[in-house]
Amino acid sequence: MQYIDVHTHIYKPEENIISIENTCNNFSNIPAGHPVSIGLHPWYLDNTDNDINVLIALAQQPDVVAIGECGLDKLVKTDWNKQVKFFDQQLQLATDLCKPVIIHCVRAFAEILFLLKGIKVPVIFHGINNKLSLVQPVIAQGYYLSFGKALLNPGASIMHTLKAVPADQLFLETDDTGVSIREIYKSAAEIRNITENEIALQLQKNYDSVFNYAEY
Ligand SMILES: [Zn+2]
Repeated sequence: MQYIDVHTHIYKPEENIISIENTCNNFSNIPAGHPVSIGLHPWYLDNTDNDINVLIALAQQPDVVAIGECGLDKLVKTDWNKQVKFFDQQLQLATDLCKPVIIHCVRAFAEILFLLKGIKVPVIFHGINNKLSLVQPVIAQGYYLSFGKALLNPGASIMHTLKAVPADQLFLETDDTGVSIREIYKSAAEIRNITENEIALQLQKNYDSVFNYAEY
């Protein structure tokens, strides 16, 4: 069985696990030899004029399989217009390079969905921990939803959301938790009442249709 960890900040090479390592600052030192995503996170927009140029140059590399995480966050102090400007620039970059986008969204679903209009590359909303009514418009647009630590001690609301996501729009992730992706798979399979093997086969299919990284 092969596991896909679509978004992690803590990369550990392990047999039967494909992890997409996220780098959201310190672009001078991006990892090599395995799939990575790089982007300007709305929490770290201090040195952005320089960073966006570095990002544009690095994003061409074949190990960079996605742009992000990037997005909008209403709970962070970063100036809102600045967040919108850099999010939009990164959507253009993803479009130019035909690479998928990994989205960080905190209380900004409507604004992000608006900015995504016309964007044709695959889009993954990561770290889903919301009630179904909030993410229903994301599902309706055909975007992907990635679940992580919220599944470890799941409340009724997140279980309801996970069950409602179509199998072909689903991903799982460890983000910054350091837990094993195997634990997240186990929990997701239990909640959806299917076997781990079934979920693994489905997520492999989803990975293959979103990411172009044949070596892994
Ligand atoms: Zn993250």
